[in-house]
Amino acid sequence: MFKTRQKGHAGPSRGKKPQAASRAELEAFLQTEPLEKDGVIYIHVPFCDNICSFCSMNRTKLNDELDDYTKFLLGEIEKYGKFPYLQGKNFRSVYFGGGTPTILKEKHLKPVITALRVNFNISDDCEFSLESTLHNLNLGKLHLLESLGVNRFSIGVQTFSDKGRKLLNRVGGKNAAIKRLKALRQNFDGMLCTDIIFNYPNQSLDEVLQDARLIDELSIDSTSFYSLQFFEGSTLGKTISQDYYDVNYERELHNAFARELFSTGNYEVLEYTKFNRKGRDEYRYIRLGHQGADVLPLGKGAGGHIGNYGLYNVKENMQMISKSDDKQRAQGRFKSLFQYDKIDLARVKSFIGDESFGELMEFFKKCEEAGYLKIENGFLNYTIDGVFWGNSIATEVSNIAQKDFE
Ligand code: SF4
Repeated sequence: MFKTRQKGHAGPSRGKKPQAASRAELEAFLQTEPLEKDGVIYIHVPFCDNICSFCSMNRTKLNDELDDYTKFLLGEIEKYGKFPYLQGKNFRSVYFGGGTPTILKEKHLKPVITALRVNFNISDDCEFSLESTLHNLNLGKLHLLESLGVNRFSIGVQTFSDKGRKLLNRVGGKNAAIKRLKALRQNFDGMLCTDIIFNYPNQSLDEVLQDARLIDELSIDSTSFYSLQFFEGSTLGKTISQDYYDVNYERELHNAFARELFSTGNYEVLEYTKFNRKGRDEYRYIRLGHQGADVLPLGKGAGGHIGNYGLYNVKENMQMISKSDDKQRAQGRFKSLFQYDKIDLARVKSFIGDESFGELMEFFKKCEEAGYLKIENGFLNYTIDGVFWGNSIATEVSNIAQKDFE
C-alpha cells in the first residue's frame, strides 16, 4: 500500500508555517498567568565521551566543558524561574536528554537539580528522567541520582549483539551490557528503559530475537525500537552503502521483535516506536507534549514550546522563536493522535470537518483491507503490521486532513 516507509514520526505539516517572533514578545507572554498547569522541562546536555557511528544528534565529543556548561544551565534556570507564567506551572515531567546527561558529575548534577526544585514547581509525582549510555551509569551515579529524585532512566543499548555493537561503535560488548543492566535493575525500582535499533547492515533474525528476549529477561520497563536511519553527518552515513536496505526484511525484523516481546504477555505498544512493560513506563515526557502541554527547553540544542511560541536554543546565546496560531497548535494535537495503536474516532472527528472525516474513513478501510488495523466499536485498533507502517499512515492522515487546518 505504501511505496516507502516513514521510519520516524510524521514530518512537518504542509501549509502555513509558524511566524518568526521576537524575544520581547515571548517575555511579555511569560509575564501572564498560564491557563493550563501541566508542563514539562527538557534539559539538553550536548556532550558524549564516545561518538556512535550512527548518531547525528546535537552533541560533540566532551572536551572539559562541563563546569562552564553547568554555570550556563544554572543561569538559564534562574532566568526562566522568575517569569510568572512559569512560576504558575506544575511541572509533571523533567527530562534530561543529550548527548549523555549522565556525563555530568555529582558537582554538576546536584546544583542543577537543586536549582530546578528551587526555581520551579516540580510536582511530587514528577517523572524525572535522564538519558544515559550504559558505561556512563554506574551504581554510584545511580544512587546519587535516585537520592536527587530521578525515577526514570532511558538507556541507549541499541543492540546486545557483539557484531552490531561494534558496527554502531557502542562501548563494550554483549556480556558487559547484560552485566551492567542486571546490576542497575537489582538496585533500582524506578523505570529502566532502553533504546534498541534494528535493521543495521547484516543484522540476522536471531539477533533481533535475542534483543527482544533480553529486554524481557532483564525486566526492562519500556524500549524504544527504531529502524537504523542514515543521517547526514553520521559516520555510518558516510561510510556504509544503504544498498542492503529492503523494506520487506525491515518489516520481518520489526514484526519478529514485536511478536517475541508480546509472546511473553508482559509488553504492549506504548506508541509506534515504543513498547512498554504493562503497567510500568508512562513516558509522560512525550505524552504530555502530545496533549499540548508546554515544554520548557533549557540548554544548548534544546527545543520546546510555551503557549503558542516555539523555541529552539541554537547556541548558548542564540534562540530561534516562532509563533503558531490556534489552528496550527490544534493540528499538532491532531497529528499526535496518530502515534498510538488505539485511536478514538470520535476524537479524530472532533478536530476536522465531515468531508475530511469521510475521506479518512475511506483511507482507514483501505488500511483495514491491507491488514494494518481493525475498525471496531468506534476505534482504530492497529495490528503489529500497522504499527510498523504507523508513521506512514500518520503522514497520509495528515495530508488528507490538511485543508481543515489552513
Ligand atoms: S547515540 Fe547517544 S551516546 Fe552515542 S553519540 Fe549519539 S548522543 Fe552520544
